[in-house]
Amino acid sequence: MIPANDFRRRWAEVGADVMAAVERVGQSGWYVLGDEVRLFEQELAGYWGLSHAVGVGSGLDAIEIGLRILGCGPGDRVLTTPLSAFATTLAIVRLGAVPVFVDTDEHGLIDLERCWNAVQQLDIRYFVPVHLYGHSLDLEALERMREEFDLQIVEDCAQAVGARFLGRATGTVGQIAATSFYPTKNLGAMGDGGAILTNNPASDEQARILRSYGETERYRHEQLGYNSRLDEMQAALLRQACLPRLPQWLEKRRAIADAYLAGIHHPAVTVPEPPEGSESSWHLFPIHVAPAHRPAFLDHLKVSGIGAGIHYPTAIPDQPALAGIPWEMAGDCGTARRLAASEVSLPIHPYLTREEVDKVIAAVQAWQPF
Ligand SMILES: *Cc1c(COP(=O)(O)O)cnc(C)c1O
Repeated sequence: MIPANDFRRRWAEVGADVMAAVERVGQSGWYVLGDEVRLFEQELAGYWGLSHAVGVGSGLDAIEIGLRILGCGPGDRVLTTPLSAFATTLAIVRLGAVPVFVDTDEHGLIDLERCWNAVQQLDIRYFVPVHLYGHSLDLEALERMREEFDLQIVEDCAQAVGARFLGRATGTVGQIAATSFYPTKNLGAMGDGGAILTNNPASDEQARILRSYGETERYRHEQLGYNSRLDEMQAALLRQACLPRLPQWLEKRRAIADAYLAGIHHPAVTVPEPPEGSESSWHLFPIHVAPAHRPAFLDHLKVSGIGAGIHYPTAIPDQPALAGIPWEMAGDCGTARRLAASEVSLPIHPYLTREEVDKVIAAVQAWQPF
């Protein structure tokens, strides 16, 4: 079996470093908001090329707290994509704000031209764009939009750590970038975690206050905050075992993507090239088959010993949890729905061997849909 993720092989690589990190934290006697988190924040910000990073409990919290720092609250409209992890929308809804969905392009990325129109027509100040699959949105177009409409932007970089657009890192257009250290992510911890990144010192300070009950000084609470803190164990293993290896992990993902792009040519399978200008982090490798054929294709992969996934099977506006709460759609979400019905994710992680990649390619090539 070639699994979608292989945490046992990962442990073989990082285990010794993780154990050293755990030992260090254990010996320190300090488990929440200590030196490890502080140093990891500095190292992450340094890697990203932004001046501040604040460790929080999850990617979901990073987006929600990020929006709140930008002033988003109940009733505010927030532009976002119908094709993402549910967390992107949940962060908006948890603030009492109103998601406004704009359709995606063929890559599954929110269509910035349609966004431009939606912002012109509706009263929209906030935007949560998602660099889905690790493909960067057109950051120049995103920046033009931010400047034209004075948009407040939280970039959802949960899948895009290390992704760039024409050399520029994702997360550097929005006032705030949010990311996740959920284990499957490109920079995955061994539990939940996330971070808020920004160049704005005031936003950095707000994030630190909000992640810890809204406490400004000991036992003084001027705002209603959260309990959302990256813990010392996760921070220590992220900085010792993961962040230093991230460049080589990204290289590995890119080599696998190149091999799939070169090797898969099947009349019933669409293999999208990455969007122009995107130096993708390849969190996922999406391909597409006709919706009517997808169940049989997934069976074929399973029988061939390949662990495939679907990201995501349902467009967010069609999720039952959104029934009965306020949200809007600017135009239709036809492309997102079509992609949700046709997408299949092939395994892509740093521990795949060349033989396994070839096996995946051979299995796709051998599929007989008709
Ligand atoms: C994983 C993910 C999130 C949520 O991160 P968590 O740490 O799981 O809360 C948000 N957005 C996207 C695009 C994601 O992939």
